[in-house]
Amino acid sequence: MKLTKLQREEIRMKYGGRCAYCGCQLGQRWHADHLIPIRRSERFVRDESKAYVLDKYTYKPLREKYLVNPEADCFENMVPACASCNILKNSLPLESFRATIAGFITSLNRDSTQYKIAKRYGLIQETKIEVKFYYETYGNNGITD
Ligand SMILES: [Zn+2]
Repeated sequence: MKLTKLQREEIRMKYGGRCAYCGCQLGQRWHADHLIPIRRSERFVRDESKAYVLDKYTYKPLREKYLVNPEADCFENMVPACASCNILKNSLPLESFRATIAGFITSLNRDSTQYKIAKRYGLIQETKIEVKFYYETYGNNGITD
């Protein structure tokens, strides 16, 4: 959806000017993200008799892009996100995004020599805490029920 400047500012301030996911302070460049991801798809265009509409030059069936879940493309579903969270989240559902972040420790332990050495020297301590998004505790002073 197209946002007005005022709507963008409302979204930016939704969590005190911080990213809804990691909680970092948002700078000049931030993204308005769909909390529930919108899904785009493509389909063939059909006429009233359900026949495919052909391109007048190529005679190939015409395609159109559409939103699978247009109800998610609304102001209430928009949250502020830093660029890295938004790019990482991409079109993942929230729980898949959470699982992706939680899985970073596994891949770092498997793939990163620097990480493993830093951990061996006590520079890194894994906490095994669950991934909490900033917006989930915002306004509760970090206290959840
Ligand atoms: Zn973030």
